[in-house]
Amino acid sequence: MKDQNCGYCMRGELLEQFGIYICDLSVSSLILFKEQSHPGRCIVAYKDHVSEIVNISDEERDAFFADVARAAKAIHAAFHPDKVNYGAYGDTGCHLHMHLVPKYKDGFEWGGVFEMNPDKVHLSDAEYQEMIEKIKSNL
Ligand SMILES: [Zn+2]
Repeated sequence: MKDQNCGYCMRGELLEQFGIYICDLSVSSLILFKEQSHPGRCIVAYKDHVSEIVNISDEERDAFFADVARAAKAIHAAFHPDKVNYGAYGDTGCHLHMHLVPKYKDGFEWGGVFEMNPDKVHLSDAEYQEMIEKIKSNL
């Protein structure tokens, strides 16, 4: 179940437009979101190109949420946010995924809804790599 136009399915250039693949989890992949207005922001993307949480089995759904929790734990341990926000949209992409958005008191958008892509903060390759290592070491 792959969609040729989907960055989560195809990775490579399509994914690189907005994210960096970190690693596979049990039924999903963990991706660093390139726009880093919220330090540590990641995406957990389900392994298959399905649109809805109701389109997978109970076991797969439970495993998906376990992956989300595992990624969130790593984000908490690596970056110490005051809260992690979760968002599952995908109106146009149709590939089940969840945004994990660390929020910091006195930080960007604290107390509000996170923007899909603020397009404000981009890091160097070395800084992305450092962030990825920090996340991986806490998984
Ligand atoms: Zn897909």
